[in-house]
Amino acid sequence: MYNIDDDISEINNRLKKDNISYKNKTILVTGGAGFLGSWVCDVLLSQGANVLCLDDFSSGLRENIQDFEDNPNFRFIMHDISLPIYFGKIHPHYASIPEITSIDIVMHMASRASPFEFRNSPISILKSNTFGTFNALGIANNHNATFFYSSTSEVYGNPPPEAVPTPETYYGYVNPIGPRSCYDEAKRCGEAYIMAYILEYNIDAHLIRIFNTYGPKIRSGNLFGRVVPNFIIQALHDEDITVFGDGKQTRSFTYIVDEIEGILRDVAIPNARGVVINIGNNIETSVLELAKKIIELTGSNSKIVHKKLPKDDPSRRKPVLKRAKKILNWEPKIKLKEGLKRTIDWFKKSEN
Ligand code: UDP
Repeated sequence: MYNIDDDISEINNRLKKDNISYKNKTILVTGGAGFLGSWVCDVLLSQGANVLCLDDFSSGLRENIQDFEDNPNFRFIMHDISLPIYFGKIHPHYASIPEITSIDIVMHMASRASPFEFRNSPISILKSNTFGTFNALGIANNHNATFFYSSTSEVYGNPPPEAVPTPETYYGYVNPIGPRSCYDEAKRCGEAYIMAYILEYNIDAHLIRIFNTYGPKIRSGNLFGRVVPNFIIQALHDEDITVFGDGKQTRSFTYIVDEIEGILRDVAIPNARGVVINIGNNIETSVLELAKKIIELTGSNSKIVHKKLPKDDPSRRKPVLKRAKKILNWEPKIKLKEGLKRTIDWFKKSEN
């Protein structure tokens, strides 16, 4: 039966091979109660780091962090990072935590990422990646801390066939007034903020572009579900599997263990400073293939039904991973079938 601790150990064993450790570091993780953020907190705590988890539960979940709440090295800060917050002093107008005087690393991971939320919460998505990035950079700069930003493959928009697989040097084909613009353009702006802080303050900034990631703790539910949790829940309940369009559009799905390893390599490796790096899987899977795989792995009686394809839904996503290999000594290892099995097991367990 799936156990999250086995995945945490797998990440730690891989990091240990290159002597990557966060022991005794004080690390602020914005969006720490989210899917990726809570995994990062979990690994950092297991290594003996002091974790300051900042979240406002706008999309993060208390249950993602409930296992850490008794850990003396864990502190939760309820705050929306798109508003300023000061550490180590009292600010007359803004939220302040004067007793935390030293921060080694700021990881800015707060943002809703589900296309359903692009429709319902576009302003907060824009704010967490623009004002939020600005505030998080300010904290890092004030504390001489390393800064990390989780950017996204969405900065590439809907690349033409000649730009797939997509290298980091591709500038993107993004619709600034489309239904996904609150996320795509905000993340692009976030990247621009980082380049500005490098230019003006020579900050130690690291940034990666994350491709579709799935695994235990990913949010589910029809209002905000991504394709993997949606299909798994539908399959487990023998409900229709809702494939949007003809299902020929592709994504390159990365299992959470691979993704978190990539993130924690990127933060620790000095040569990654100021360089944007794709972290994702390089095996493309169509949405239809994904649906069939999930039906097979769950033994479900679900039928596939087709629904309208959302506007501006990217037709292909596949990263070039040469930089990740060269700079981070990282490549994805977990095959889709294995990652799906673990995720399905986790969903079964959490539904029970
Ligand atoms: N999708 C689907 N059915 C669903 C949810 C998503 O067919 O119930 C498709 C969606 O149109 C897209 C792909 O699956 O082509 C991935 O969608 P997701 O929401 O996970 O994230 P995206 O990669 O689009 O940001």
